[in-house]
Amino acid sequence: MSKSYQNYIGGTWVEGSGEVANINPSDTRDVIGLFAQGSRAQVDQAVAAATEAQSAWKGYGLERRQAVLQAIGEELMARSAELGELLSREEGKPLAEGKGEIYRAGQFFTYYAAECLRQLGQNADSVRPNIEIDVRREPVGVIAVISPWNFPTATAAWKIAPALCYGNAVIWKPANLTPASAVALTEIIAKQDIPAGLFNLVMGSGSEVGEALAAHKGVKAISFTGSVPVGRRIAQIAVGNFTKLQMEMGSKNALAVMDDADLELAVTVALGGAFGGSGQKCTASSRLVVHEGIHDAFVERLVAGAKAMKVGHALEQSTQMGPIVSQTQLDENLEYVRLGQSEGAELACGGELLQLATPGFYMSPGVFVGTRNDMRINREEMFAPLTSVIKVGSYDEALSVVNDTEFGLTSGIVTRSLARASHFRRNAQTGVVTVNLPTAGTDYHVPFGGRGESSYGPREQGRSADEFFTVVKTAYISSGNDL
Ligand code: NDP
Repeated sequence: MSKSYQNYIGGTWVEGSGEVANINPSDTRDVIGLFAQGSRAQVDQAVAAATEAQSAWKGYGLERRQAVLQAIGEELMARSAELGELLSREEGKPLAEGKGEIYRAGQFFTYYAAECLRQLGQNADSVRPNIEIDVRREPVGVIAVISPWNFPTATAAWKIAPALCYGNAVIWKPANLTPASAVALTEIIAKQDIPAGLFNLVMGSGSEVGEALAAHKGVKAISFTGSVPVGRRIAQIAVGNFTKLQMEMGSKNALAVMDDADLELAVTVALGGAFGGSGQKCTASSRLVVHEGIHDAFVERLVAGAKAMKVGHALEQSTQMGPIVSQTQLDENLEYVRLGQSEGAELACGGELLQLATPGFYMSPGVFVGTRNDMRINREEMFAPLTSVIKVGSYDEALSVVNDTEFGLTSGIVTRSLARASHFRRNAQTGVVTVNLPTAGTDYHVPFGGRGESSYGPREQGRSADEFFTVVKTAYISSGNDL
């Protein structure tokens, strides 16, 4: 008999209007639990509770707020092994990546705990005599956080932590594929000294709970990470209320490998960027733009590395790549393999369905070679352990291929040339650029976000987060005439 888990609204755990089963993608016989499905009425209740609690939270002293965020962060870090295992069990990433994600989520909370105490405004003299100006940031109000399954705890943490730090209330709708780690984080937040209703978890479908949040007039801002079509739909709904938006969406990141690159480093960087998290990362290297001078040697080693990767159950120590998150995602991935071949790309290895000891959504990491940048496999986000090699004749051609995309999240170059690295850093049209590093893997204390269809609205993370999670107030103060 599977255990049931409830929503958390107004400081109370409550049943939803139904439940969904959460299945382990490494072993589909393992049902992790049954998770509540919220309704539009529950969204209304959560918004009412959050609105009331936010006024109280705004009035908490900064040290009290700081202590709450610090305690959440420390508990996440202390329990990263246990909660990382739960995350890996429901999402499918290898255990080390699951633990690392929980630890990183903790660091977001401790970072923003410190930021609670670093909120300084600005002041100025007016252009008029005897008037002073004070510019300060105030909370936005009630924030809806809508998050995806691929980094279920980290993505939520980098939105929830700054939202609370800057004095807002939160309603969180996690992805329906990863509700267990959402309940675990909520349990930690619920233990803290916060007003009832400050933090609410409303699990449920995007079409019901997500859209109800997007349309609600009481929600003053929405921080979303997910696909482009869903981001576009949320924006269309929310703009009618002039709701503030911050959206991180799709990508088609390219790694340029130059003829002067350290070959071993280039292969390591490409394998990590393409297949980490089973390629289900918005920062994944899904296009490898390779100079003809190094192409054949690089492809030979890349294919050997991909073939050697151990695909397996996420909780087995030897596993380097876990399963795909769901049957639907696996089917889409295999469809992309067929599409690539029908477009004329050569599948050098992998891209095959695997039957392992446990029934799960397994496939082998795949490398396409002989591809062109105008093929659909090089234009659309696959979100799969699949990468394509595009051969180019020069650095200039590589840069132009890297930039030839509707997206613009991350890009990277592997080169020993300082001139090429510097030029690339300045001219790659992406929000994040890496040099001799994978396109995936970012820090928590600096801005994160992209260009084009990858992002919309102010940047996330680091100090840039205050742009989205606060509103600016300009106060004019006259000392009057009496001295
Ligand atoms: P989706 O866009 O399908 O879902 C993201 C979230 O939105 C989920 O919580 C989902 O709920 C919810 N949602 C779905 N439909 C609606 C709707 N109509 N209104 C409001 N909310 C809705 O993406 P996935 O979860 O499948 O994540 C994978 C995608 O996310 C990839 O395309 C990837 O590129 C992108 N992504 C981008 C990142 C970035 O930083 N740029 C980072 C990580 C992922 P439900 O689970 O019920 O569908």
